[in-house]
Amino acid sequence: MSALLPVEEALAQVLASASPVQDAVTLPLLGALGHVLAESVVSSIDVPGDDNSAMDGYALRARDASSPLPVSQRIAAGTPGCELKPGTAARIFTGAAIPPGADAVVMQENCSEQDQVVSVSGAVTAGQNIRPRGQDIGAGATVLSQGRVLRPQDLGLLASIGRDSVSVYRPLRVAVLSTGDELVEPGSGPLHSAQLYNSNRYTLAGLLRSLNMEFVDCGIVPDDADTTAQALRDAAARADCVITSGGVSVGEEDHVKTQVERLGQLQLWKLAIKPGKPLAFGRIADTPFVGLPGNPTSVFVTFCLIARPFLRRLQGVDEPALPRLRARANFSVDRPGGRQEYLRVTLAGASAGDGLQASRFSNQSSGVLSSVSHSDALAVIPPATTLAEGEPVEVILLDTLA
Ligand code: AMP
Ligand code: MG
Repeated sequence: MSALLPVEEALAQVLASASPVQDAVTLPLLGALGHVLAESVVSSIDVPGDDNSAMDGYALRARDASSPLPVSQRIAAGTPGCELKPGTAARIFTGAAIPPGADAVVMQENCSEQDQVVSVSGAVTAGQNIRPRGQDIGAGATVLSQGRVLRPQDLGLLASIGRDSVSVYRPLRVAVLSTGDELVEPGSGPLHSAQLYNSNRYTLAGLLRSLNMEFVDCGIVPDDADTTAQALRDAAARADCVITSGGVSVGEEDHVKTQVERLGQLQLWKLAIKPGKPLAFGRIADTPFVGLPGNPTSVFVTFCLIARPFLRRLQGVDEPALPRLRARANFSVDRPGGRQEYLRVTLAGASAGDGLQASRFSNQSSGVLSSVSHSDALAVIPPATTLAEGEPVEVILLDTLA
């Protein structure tokens, strides 16, 4: 057990060895969702570009507000007004530019207009109901930094400064190989005895898509040394990173680790993690390689904890550690383990404070993929830790992972 590498240490080593892609492409803004910024974007304009009204109402000088004021102009959004004559008010609508000379807007609910003369009730202070020019973004400000994964609101922000295209890193190409003589593709007929459908290919394709990376499908590789070597070499030539599932243990039918050692270099192998101990990491020629275990739950957990941050780094993103929430355990962990364990749990209750309750999925076997599909989070149980029912436990929401 003591030879197993702790998860945090493995992650630090893996991240330190990542050389991010440098190639950038320019994409139209509408096609840039989920891509990673290759530039830091600086605004050349103020947003908003004018002081403008936050209300439908009347623009005036605060010091004039105590007497009835003739309405000297009408200003709608999109059309600039004229200089406000002292002692008058302008009818104004939300988003319209404040006319020069006015310093306040009174909401229409506090005004009464008769025969084009407006009277205002209540106190009026200079600046009220005016959104100042540049209150969102000032000219010269960096609005988004290089390495940012673009979210919908970021596309809106870029549009607000007039950008219609943006420079992003080209999506990472990730080759996926599923090893195992027992594997059958769904759709290719019923299973014979001792066979099972290849689920890892689909889990990994989905995880990569949610990272906006290109899934380079290398199919099923039989448990044979030469075929494995050839498949690994081909995959490495086609992709920025090779991910395999299965075949990284020590059995006679496990060829991936041995072939990677032949074709490149194995940097680490076997982590203090449960599920997923036999994870391997290294290079095939110059292409980074992540060898995930075969068990479907191990694939999910090790991908999310080790491969995902590594791939993000290759893609140019410096992602902070996965956020964790605090929940109360509705279960106990009686026997301390030597490995960091990621229990699949469902959550109920309020998300703040002690209101969140974590319940353990009944079967935590690494072969039971239902435990991931039917859970909300991974509860992190550090090595050598026991847990009594009702004690706090940290959880990682699955929604933050895919
Ligand atoms: P291995 O690491 O190759 O010994 O595989 C460990 C377990 O995971 C075995 O029970 C395999 O049948 C299973 N397994 C391996 N690859 C896959 C896959 N692509 N889809 C579903 N199960 C798999
Ligand atoms: Mg196998």
